[in-house]
Amino acid sequence: MKIITTTEELQKLRKEIDGSVGFVPTMGALHNGHLSLIRQARDENEHLIVSIFVNPTQFLEGEDLDAYPRKEEADIRICELAKVDILFMPSISSMYEKDELCIGAPAIRGYILEGQKRAGHFDGMLQIVMKLLNISSATRAYFGKKDAQQLSLISQMVKNYFMSVSIVPCEIIRDESGLALSSRNIYLNSDEKGRALSLSRSLKEATKMIMSGEKSVVNIKENMHFHLKDIDSVEYVCIVDREFNIRDEIEIGDSIILVAGKVGGVRLIDNIWI
Ligand code: AMP
Repeated sequence: MKIITTTEELQKLRKEIDGSVGFVPTMGALHNGHLSLIRQARDENEHLIVSIFVNPTQFLEGEDLDAYPRKEEADIRICELAKVDILFMPSISSMYEKDELCIGAPAIRGYILEGQKRAGHFDGMLQIVMKLLNISSATRAYFGKKDAQQLSLISQMVKNYFMSVSIVPCEIIRDESGLALSSRNIYLNSDEKGRALSLSRSLKEATKMIMSGEKSVVNIKENMHFHLKDIDSVEYVCIVDREFNIRDEIEIGDSIILVAGKVGGVRLIDNIWI
C-alpha cells in the first residue's frame, strides 16, 4: 500500500493506473461501517484508493473539529489489511488555498434537516468531495446510506456538474444492538449508548407500522417520538422521498425515514430506507 500525502503525487500516480478505480473518502477513525465500503470497493474495482481527511470546511463554528477522533496508526493498519492500494492522507494546506472558489449546496435540499441544523456544512462537504473525486478520477465512489442527505447531494452534484464517476450507495452497518456505527460513538458512555439505541428502535417501530399497512407520516412520526423519549434532545424526525422532498404519505420503495438527536452532548443521526 502506498501512502500519499500530496495532491500532486496522487494525480501523478493516478495517471499511471489503468483499469477501474474504486474510491472511498473518509474522515478516519475507521470502523466496520467504513470497512464495508472499502470491502465493496475492493471487490468491484481493479484498484482501490481510500482517503482520510478531517475536512475543516464542513465543521461549523463550535463543532468538534479539534476533538474529532483521530487514529492514524490504526487506520493505516486497517487499510493495509483491507488491501487498499493507495491511502491518501493529505494535509489541510495541500487541499486548500486562501480565497477559494466554492460550490454551494442547493437552496432547498441542501438547507433542510442536516442542512438546517448545520447551515454551511453541506457547502464544505461538497467542496471537499468535488476535490477528492477530481484528484482520484475514480470510476466508482462509495458512500454510506447512513449519511443519506450527504449521499443524495453528492449524487446531485455529480449529475448537475456532468461528472463521470458512478456514486455507489452502501448499506448502513450497525453493531449487534442496532446502533448505527459512527466515529462519534466512542464519546458515548454505557448509559448514553443504551439511550442512543432509541434512534434505531424508533426506526424499527416505524418499519413495523409500515409493514402492517400504515401510510400516514403524522401517525408514524407520533409513534417514533414516543420511542425517542430517552434521547436528550430530538432534532428532527422526518420522512422524505429518495430526492429529499418531504413526504406526507409513505410510498414503499421511495421513502427514507430520518432521525437526529443528541445524547449526552453527542449528536447522532440514523435512518432507514423503505
Ligand atoms: P465519515 O468518515 O464519517 O466521513 O464517513 C465516511 C463514509 O463512511 C461516508 O460515506 C459514510 O456515510 C460512511 N459510513 C459511516 N458510518 C457508516 C455506517 N455505519 N454504515 C455505512 N456507512 C457508513
